[in-house]
Amino acid sequence: MKPIIAIVGRPNVGKSTLFNRIVGYRTSIVENEPGVTRDRIYGEGEWLERKFILIDTGGIEPNSEDVLLKDIRWQAELAIEEADVILFLVDGREGLTATDREIAQMLRKSQKPVILVVNKIENYTDVEMKIFEFYELGLGDPFPISAEHGMQVGDLLDKVLTYLPEKEEEEENDERLKIAIIGRPNVGKSSLTNYLLGQKRVIVSDIPGTTRDAIDTVLKRGDQEYILIDTAGIRRKKKIRENVEYYSVIRSLRAVDRSDVVLMVFDAVEGVTEQDKKIVGYAHEAGKGLILVFNKWDLVEKDDKTMQIYTKRVYEELKFLSYAPIIFTSALTGKRVMEILDIVDFVAEEHAKRVTTGLLNEVVEEAVAMMAPPSDKGKRLKIYYATQVSVKPPTFVFFVNEPELMHFSYLRYLENNLREAFGFNGTPIRLLVRKRD
Ligand code: GDP
Ligand code: GDP
Repeated sequence: MKPIIAIVGRPNVGKSTLFNRIVGYRTSIVENEPGVTRDRIYGEGEWLERKFILIDTGGIEPNSEDVLLKDIRWQAELAIEEADVILFLVDGREGLTATDREIAQMLRKSQKPVILVVNKIENYTDVEMKIFEFYELGLGDPFPISAEHGMQVGDLLDKVLTYLPEKEEEEENDERLKIAIIGRPNVGKSSLTNYLLGQKRVIVSDIPGTTRDAIDTVLKRGDQEYILIDTAGIRRKKKIRENVEYYSVIRSLRAVDRSDVVLMVFDAVEGVTEQDKKIVGYAHEAGKGLILVFNKWDLVEKDDKTMQIYTKRVYEELKFLSYAPIIFTSALTGKRVMEILDIVDFVAEEHAKRVTTGLLNEVVEEAVAMMAPPSDKGKRLKIYYATQVSVKPPTFVFFVNEPELMHFSYLRYLENNLREAFGFNGTPIRLLVRKRD
C-alpha cells in the first residue's frame, strides 16, 4: 500500500502550489480530461522510485458552512488520522500567525511525523532570519522551500522518505479479483455489501487485519472467488464518525489502490454530486476497472424510459467515464444486486485484455486514413506504429515522428477507434506517445 503524505496549513501558504509541484502534471490522455484534474486534492507522486499518495487537505470541502478555523482543524485531524507523514506548511513572508500556532498545537499532540515547512523562501541571504521565529512552534527545525520556484523541494522529499515505513513486499500476489466498493457515506455501500454476502450461493470468509481496522472478505460464487476490500470500515461494528466525508474519501482511495475493479456507488435519488466526481475521478485516474452503481433505485419514481434518460444524463455529467457500465440497484429489495458480480467478471476481463499488435495497427491505420493526424507549420504528425505495452489498464504506445504534434483531440479520436474495435468496456485505457528513435 502506498504511504500517504498530507499537506496541512492555513489558506494561501502555498499548499496547492506545493501539491502541483510534487505531483506534477503528467501528460497521458487521462490527465487531460476536463473535470478530472481541476482542483485535485490527491494525487500520486514518486520520488526516488518510491510511490506515495499526496493529499492537499486545503482542497477538501467541508460538508457544512464551517468557519475557517474549524475547517483547518478538520484538515489537521484528517492528516493526523490518515497520513504517514504530515507536511505542515507556513508562510515565510508573512511570518508566524495565530492560526499557525493553533495547527501546531494539534500536530504536536499527534504521534505522526511532522515536517515544518517554511514556504516562499526564495532569497537565501536572510533565510535564517525568516525561519527563526518558527522554532517557537516546537516542531523541530523549520525546512525552508519555495514551492513556486521548486527550490529545496527535492531535498524536502528526501527528508520525507526517511520517515516513510519500510517499503513493503509487493503485496498481494493474489490472483483473486479484488473489488472496492466506494462512495460517499449513506449511499448504501454497507447495505450492498451485506446483500452480496448474505446470498445462499455465496460463501464468505474474512481476512482480518488486512489494513488497520479493515476486514477484507472472500466471496465465492461458483468457481469464481472475489476479495471484497473493506472500505471505510464498512464491516466494522461501530461506525466511527460515519458522517464525516473526509475520512471516507481517504479510505476509499486506499481501497481503490488495492483493487482491480471499483464499484462506485451513488445515491440514485441525489444523482451525481461534486464529491462523487472527485472520488470517481480518482478511480479513473488510477486506471481501475469501473462500474457505476446507482443504488436506492426503489426510491426513484419511474416509468419505462427513466433508466434510459437517467443513463444519458449521467454520461453527460461524467463525460470522461462514458466507458463505464451503469447499473441501477436496490440494496433494500435486492434488485439487480447480484448482477453486479456478472458485470464485475466482464469488466475484469476487459481490464486485463490484450490485443495483438497486428490487429491494433490495422485499426490505427484505418483511423489515420479516415482522419489525417494534426499538423503544425507544414509539418504533419506521422504515426509509425502502435503497440500495447501493458494491461490493467490497457496501455498503448504510439511511436511517432514528432510527439509535440499530437493533440488531445486526436488522442481522443484514436481512443474512440480503439474502443469501437476492441471494446475495453468498463476500463480506462491509456495512450502514450513516443518519438521513434
Ligand atoms: P494554498 O491556499 O495554501 O493552497 O496556497 P496556494 O498554493 O494557492 O498559494 C497562495 C499564493 O501564494 C499564490 O498566489 C501562490 O502563487 C503563492 N505562492 C505559493 N508558493 C510560493 C512560493 O514559493 N513563493 C512565493 N513567492 N509565492 C508562492
Ligand atoms: P453506506 O454509508 O454507504 O455504507 O450506506 P448504508 O448501507 O449504511 O445505507 C445508508 C442508509 O440507506 C441506510 O438507512 C440504508 O437502510 C439505506 N439504504 C441503503 N440502500 C438502500 C436502497 O437501495 N434503497 C433504500 N430505500 N434505502 C437504502
